[in-house]
Amino acid sequence: MTTNSQLVPLDAKNRVGGSLRSLFGMNTAELSEWMAAAGEPKWRGSQLAEALYRQRIVEVEGITTLSKALRQRLDREGWQVGRPRIVQVFTSVDGTERYLVHGQGLDGLTVETVWMPEGDGGEAGDGSEGPAGAAEASKVWDRATICVSSQVGCAVNCQFCLTAKLGLQRNLSVGEIAGQVVAVLDRQSVEVGKERVNLVFMGMGEPFLNYENFMGAVRLLVEEVGLSPQRMTVSTSGIVPGIERFAEEPPEIRPKLAISLNAPNDEVRSEVMPINRKWPIEAVVDAVRGVRLRSRERITFEYVLLGGVTDRPEHAAEVARLVRRTGLPAKVNLIAWNPGPGIAYTMPESGAVEGFRRALAAEGVPVYLRRPRGRDIYAACGQLKRTVEE
Ligand code: SF4
Repeated sequence: MTTNSQLVPLDAKNRVGGSLRSLFGMNTAELSEWMAAAGEPKWRGSQLAEALYRQRIVEVEGITTLSKALRQRLDREGWQVGRPRIVQVFTSVDGTERYLVHGQGLDGLTVETVWMPEGDGGEAGDGSEGPAGAAEASKVWDRATICVSSQVGCAVNCQFCLTAKLGLQRNLSVGEIAGQVVAVLDRQSVEVGKERVNLVFMGMGEPFLNYENFMGAVRLLVEEVGLSPQRMTVSTSGIVPGIERFAEEPPEIRPKLAISLNAPNDEVRSEVMPINRKWPIEAVVDAVRGVRLRSRERITFEYVLLGGVTDRPEHAAEVARLVRRTGLPAKVNLIAWNPGPGIAYTMPESGAVEGFRRALAAEGVPVYLRRPRGRDIYAACGQLKRTVEE
C-alpha cells in the first residue's frame, strides 16, 4: 500500500473530453482499491459507492460518511462526484420529458435522455411483465421507461434517424451512460426496488459500437444502483461482433436484446439501414441464435413503419415469414415513423399500422404497437438529436 500525498488517478476509462476528476462511474471494487492505494481504509470505497449510487449525493462535501479530512483532501486534489447533470428539460403534452444531459468531459457535449411515464408499450410481451410494486401515492405513474444514450451522435447512418445527422462525435464513458439513469431516477424520486422502471438503451448511438462502456454501465446499474437487467433492453442495428460478445455475458447481468430490423428483406434494409450491407439479416439472426435466453424471454424485432417503404401488406407477410424462419422466441414491436426535419420519409398512412399489426398477428407472430411518446418535443424514436437551436 502506498501513502501518496496525492490521490492516484483513477482508471482512464472514466475520463473523457478533458481532465475532470470524476468519481461517478467507478464501482465499489475500483473505488476501494483506489482508496487503499491512497493510504485510506479500503472500506471507504464502499462508503463512496453507497453515496454515489444509492444515496445519489452529487457533491463530495455532502458525503458525510467520509471524514471531513478526506472530503477536504478529495476537494483539494480536484475530485468531484461528476455525475452527469440535466441542464434542460422539454416536457411533452403526454408527460414525456426529454432531457439534455451534460456529460463528464470538458468538451461541453450534451446527450439526450428520455423519461416516459407509463412507457410506450414496447416492453409488452418480452417476458418482463410483473407486479408494478407500490408506487408513492403522490406519483402519477406506476411504471416508467428511461431511454438512455450510449454515444454522442451515431456513426450507423440509418436513413430514417435524426441522430444519424450528427455523425459520431464521441463515445460516452461508463459514468456518462449510467449517470443519465441515476440523474433521472433522482429527478423523479424513484425508489429503486419498489417502483417499476424499465431502461431501454435506444437513445442516441449504437451501444454495441461502444461495447465496453455500455456493458460497464449496465454492470454499475445492476450491481451498484440495484436495477434489474431483466428490466433493461438494448437495441442494436445489427453489429454482429457486438451481438456475439453480448451472447457471452452472464444472464445475471445481461439485458434483453432487441434488433432494429425495420425492413422485410435485405434489399429494403440496405436502403434504409446501410449497415445491412456489412451484416445482412441472416448474419444478424445467426449471431442472435447464440444468445441463451432466460425462461419466458423473447428477442424483440423493432420495426419502424415508413410510409410506402416498409409498411405495405406484402411487407407484413414477409416479416412474418422472416420471424418464423429465425426459429427464435420473438416478438415484433411496430413503431410508426416519427417525422424529423430534413428526412425524406413520410409517416405511414392512416390504417397502415393497424393493418400491419393485424397481418402479423394473423400469422401467429406476437406483435405490439409502440405508442409514439413525446413527438411534440422530438423525444420519440429516431428523433433524438442535440437540438441546441432550441
Ligand atoms: S437508429 Fe440508432 S443506430 Fe441507427 S443511426 Fe439512429 S441512433 Fe444510430
